[in-house]
Amino acid sequence: MRWLEEWKEPLGVHRFCLVHIRSNFTQKFRNERLKSLIWGAGKANQTRKYEEYMSVIFSLSPEAYAWLTGGSVRSEQWALCKDGGYRWGHAITNMVKCFNNLLQESRFLPITALIRYTFNQRVDLFVKNHKMTWDQMYHLPLYGWKKYVANEQKGRAHSVQVFDHRRGNYCITTAYRQTHVGGHAQTVDIENRTCTCEKWRELKFPCSHAIAACFRSGLNLMSLVGPEYTFEAYQATYESPFNS
Ligand SMILES: [Zn+2]
Repeated sequence: MRWLEEWKEPLGVHRFCLVHIRSNFTQKFRNERLKSLIWGAGKANQTRKYEEYMSVIFSLSPEAYAWLTGGSVRSEQWALCKDGGYRWGHAITNMVKCFNNLLQESRFLPITALIRYTFNQRVDLFVKNHKMTWDQMYHLPLYGWKKYVANEQKGRAHSVQVFDHRRGNYCITTAYRQTHVGGHAQTVDIENRTCTCEKWRELKFPCSHAIAACFRSGLNLMSLVGPEYTFEAYQATYESPFNS
């Protein structure tokens, strides 16, 4: 399929599961330290942290570094921070595998019954989710709303220093938690929708630092949320009717 025009960029973007890349990598480079470093590099949200992991990999094995940066795979195919925002924070393929659960009950049925059963399950799910999109108890559909509430709670504990109020530049320092983790400074640019933690760019959803900056700026927080998380997007997803 890789030769089909529809499967090439910009229509089709190829990314690899970090678990499988790590497995291929460790078969070639058998070293526990490298194995843990590739995981850290692949999961890092910030380019700075990715580069720290990669420089250690280079110091341990220039061949392993070359394998990861074009020798066998390109960094944007396996590293979150190099990905360009196509993976929405998913480094592995568990998101796809969750569909296996839907097939568990039908897997021993004859083929026609299996297809009918799976089809009916899809229809029920679309009807349920379509109803949910009109049941607007919160400002966002439940998935986005829970995410927002969690980030807002964290954001309320951060301290905010204004760099440039007019341009929307703020320095956010995270609160210390019981585990003594915290005290990290991140820079938020509201106009360009970026934060140096790089989660805002990756998830198209404001991180706790962006929300803390927004409290200070007085902007409507919902204006920072990507259109993909809105009721309008969910309604468009589930509005197509089924035909028997
Ligand atoms: Zn951030």
